[in-house]
Amino acid sequence: MISTMQDVPLQIRRILEHAVSVYADQKIYTAQPGGGLSTRTFRETGENAARLARALASLGVREGDRVATLMWNNQEHVEAYWAVPSMGAVLHPLNLRLPPAQIGYIACHAEDRVLIADHSLLPLVTPLLPTLTTVEHLIVNGAAASGTDLAALAAAAGRELGVHDYGELVGSQPPTYAWPDVDERSAAAMCYTSGTTGDPKGVVYSHRSIYLHSLCAALPGLLNLTAADRVLAIVPQFHVLAWGLPYTAFVTGAELVQPGPFLQPEPLARLIEASRVNKAAGVPTIWAGLLSWLEANPGAADVSSLKEAVVGGSACPPALLDAYDRLGVTLLHAYGMTETSPLATCARPPVGVTDPAEVRRYRLTQGRGVVPVESRLVGPAGEVLPWDGESTGELELRGPWITGSYYGSEDPDKFHDGWLRTGDVGHISPDGYLTLTDRVKDVIKSGGEWISSVELENQLMAHPAVPEAAVIGVPDEKWGERPLACVVLREGTEVTFSELREFLADKVARWQLPENWARIPEVPKTSVGKFDKKRLREQYALGELVPEKITAS
Ligand code: ADP
Repeated sequence: MISTMQDVPLQIRRILEHAVSVYADQKIYTAQPGGGLSTRTFRETGENAARLARALASLGVREGDRVATLMWNNQEHVEAYWAVPSMGAVLHPLNLRLPPAQIGYIACHAEDRVLIADHSLLPLVTPLLPTLTTVEHLIVNGAAASGTDLAALAAAAGRELGVHDYGELVGSQPPTYAWPDVDERSAAAMCYTSGTTGDPKGVVYSHRSIYLHSLCAALPGLLNLTAADRVLAIVPQFHVLAWGLPYTAFVTGAELVQPGPFLQPEPLARLIEASRVNKAAGVPTIWAGLLSWLEANPGAADVSSLKEAVVGGSACPPALLDAYDRLGVTLLHAYGMTETSPLATCARPPVGVTDPAEVRRYRLTQGRGVVPVESRLVGPAGEVLPWDGESTGELELRGPWITGSYYGSEDPDKFHDGWLRTGDVGHISPDGYLTLTDRVKDVIKSGGEWISSVELENQLMAHPAVPEAAVIGVPDEKWGERPLACVVLREGTEVTFSELREFLADKVARWQLPENWARIPEVPKTSVGKFDKKRLREQYALGELVPEKITAS
């Protein structure tokens, strides 16, 4: 060892301390009922985080203890993002869109000791209280203002439970905290996967992994954030820590706009207008919903401040990218998982590529990674495949913010040789751009060949009468599996399945054309707004989804 450098641990509290001094007057905005915005500066946020840490310490929270949140994206939730890890405890945002029993299971599995919940979510929290057996204290954000009966809540638990009002508990504390010197490899936060393809699994992020992820996410090749930006975090704080946005905002000084529970297209459009954000982040279904509203209500909201919006969580349909281009908003396609903190790749085209068709082609890939994240593709026999833009295999990832195991659950199939098996299938071009063709569990295996469900969906959603389409594999005697196209048709449009099949005919190989078709009112969505193909497969198995056979085109 001949390095002469200091060994300074990468702790989350160091990001906070930096931000509250150099970006003290930058702001966090939270949407309020009625369309207003509440505002807190970074300095005030840091002071409140210190107050919250003192309050939690007074309740007995110690290093390593899990503190859960069941909250919308709002100011107090950001305060918890800083307070909990900085004091050495572990922040655990719970997914409020999961079925209540699953929320209870996850909170017990993580052994959460304290739960901070928004008062508006008490109808969800209250019946759960008897089952949250590890939770000793409930802190209700907005309890006093909403007239919440704290004693009744304690009684509802049917066991010893401290119940507190956030404002009262936190407001009376001094605005400073002697943050401990925690090991950079210790747990800072945890999130559970949303269970799109299986049971939820816990992923524990360390101070070091969040610190490095936040620095790199800010880079020009990824989110490209600076103090001149104002970002709307539509992605929920329980969904992979809002893709790290609160942390990256403090690294860069970028301002943060929080939508609270107002996530429908119209309030989002009005929030963009009121807050004049230039950047935003959300899953494709959010952008698709906003687009439909903007198209149906021309001129109703001025969203011209918005220049770039991150879209990730599932593949960005080309028709969506094109539609936002026409609105003057560049969708920036990014890929990641709960297991990858989440940013793994991001599709900014290479410098020097200017031909519009080429630029579009690059933007529709999942993109390329940043240096700490290594990628490889592995074929069916375990062989590592070349980056030739054609060889297709499962993507594996390795890096300082890629998880190496699940919390409290063995899953040896997901990890090997220090690599994470992502369960995603695709190819990588010689210049490092990843194109995902499917999830391993969604790919349709027809007569020994693979059909990409995502490709069929994207082509279908490029038809003007099809706002949503999901394609699943269904059993077939001859071929093993064949595609079933489940399509949503835009109201007032008349299009037949034969016409849709004809529309696909020159876009995909003939043998890939679906012969099974079903019209559905909407594609079911997961708790984080992704197409829920597991649910569609269940509906098919139960006979609730009866396809029509269309073979001629
Ligand atoms: P869950 O696995 O429960 O859906 P995650 O949010 O962690 O929860 O999902 C990660 C998965 O989402 C990835 O493995 C991948 O299949 C999919 N995904 C994320 N971003 C993209 C993207 N840009 N394109 C295609 N698929 C994506």
